[in-house]
Amino acid sequence: MKKIAILGSTGSIGTQTLEVVRANGDLEITALAAGTNIDLLESQIREFHPSLAAVWTEEKAEELRKRTGDLELRIVTGMEGLLEVAEQPGTGLLVTAIVGMIGIRPTIAAMKAGKDIALANKETLVTAGHIIMPLAEECGVRILPVDSEHSAIFQCLHGENRSELHKILLTASGGPFRGRKKEEMKNVRVEDALKHPNWSMGRKITIDSATLVNKGLEMMEARWLFGVEAKDIQIVVQPKSIIHSMVEFVDGAVLAQLGTPDMKLPIQYALYYPERRYLPGERLDFGTLSQITFEQPDMDVFPGLRLAFEAAAAGGSLPTVYNAANERAVALFLDRRIGFTDIPRLIEDCMKAHKVIGYPSVEEILQVEAEVYERIGRAEAELQIRKQVDY
Ligand code: NDP
Repeated sequence: MKKIAILGSTGSIGTQTLEVVRANGDLEITALAAGTNIDLLESQIREFHPSLAAVWTEEKAEELRKRTGDLELRIVTGMEGLLEVAEQPGTGLLVTAIVGMIGIRPTIAAMKAGKDIALANKETLVTAGHIIMPLAEECGVRILPVDSEHSAIFQCLHGENRSELHKILLTASGGPFRGRKKEEMKNVRVEDALKHPNWSMGRKITIDSATLVNKGLEMMEARWLFGVEAKDIQIVVQPKSIIHSMVEFVDGAVLAQLGTPDMKLPIQYALYYPERRYLPGERLDFGTLSQITFEQPDMDVFPGLRLAFEAAAAGGSLPTVYNAANERAVALFLDRRIGFTDIPRLIEDCMKAHKVIGYPSVEEILQVEAEVYERIGRAEAELQIRKQVDY
């Protein structure tokens, strides 16, 4: 029986992974890690019987220990806890469904312990792809993409010769503000940005989809996963999210992967790769599907995407700045402390202020993250003061 552990089991990807595990009934859960949602974690523990669980704080751990005293379960905390979950003996595959750069160290630990990775945590590749990809090769482990676009590309490349890949066509829905003008973006509210037209996802990634920063992060993730340059990745807006991405080969042939938008497909593909399993749910009906349309992304209305290409071209520590600035700016936007267009503005400010480190170590990446957070904190404080003066 294949044994898997999940980092971020209580989130959108984590819960859908467990749905796939439940539906198939032939995977064993060895360990689960969550942040704070111990109600859901407790019910997952009771259903899937892992022997190890991690939560972020000692306080939550104490409460969970009290509640699960009747079970044979060890509960661990903090980064040490995440590392234990990642390295647990017996696990064959780690699903990285945690959000943020906190996923880097556990992913590295799991690879060093010989585990394959089902990678949803794109921040790990965006910021540390230069460390992760060579390490995967050195450790002889697989990195199986969970992101639907990357899974689509991975599926299109299955059985193909990678050196014959000419270009990646990364599709984007365009988000809820596709077709809007620049001036219309200023008054976007949190609830408008949280309405994704096709996919149901966690809050942070839903905002990233509205700014198109998610597509920028995906582009950077794709370049590491498939060993291409940013200039060889074209973003294609395909509003209905039917084509999940495409690849073009040197002879001009284009292969695409299509399907209804359901994250359980790429999750299941990663869990059972290279096997395909039956997946219940809605199927594409080519009898009623009259058309698939394509557009170019508007980098002027969505500067977050332009900045991603700039960060990728410069490389080194700049993608970390891009990612960290976005992470903090999105949190402030969700807290209604800054406006929607402040998100790319803050990213750009941080990128301009940064002196790029060519080949950052994990410690340097985390240091850059901390510096960016500090900078955004100062910028936000200034913004609040300015607002008060304006009143
Ligand atoms: P969610 O916000 O829904 O879930 C995040 C998970 O991470 C939760 O289980 C949360 O726990 C956990 N977590 C957060 N902080 C910690 C911590 N300090 N220690 C342990 N666990 C922690 O995110 P998503 O599922 O949407 O996204 C997860 C990753 O997958 C992201 O990198 C995202 O970009 C990527 N992704 C997501 C897709 C989607 O459809 N949602 C598609 C493709 C990629 P808790 O809630 O208990 O605090």
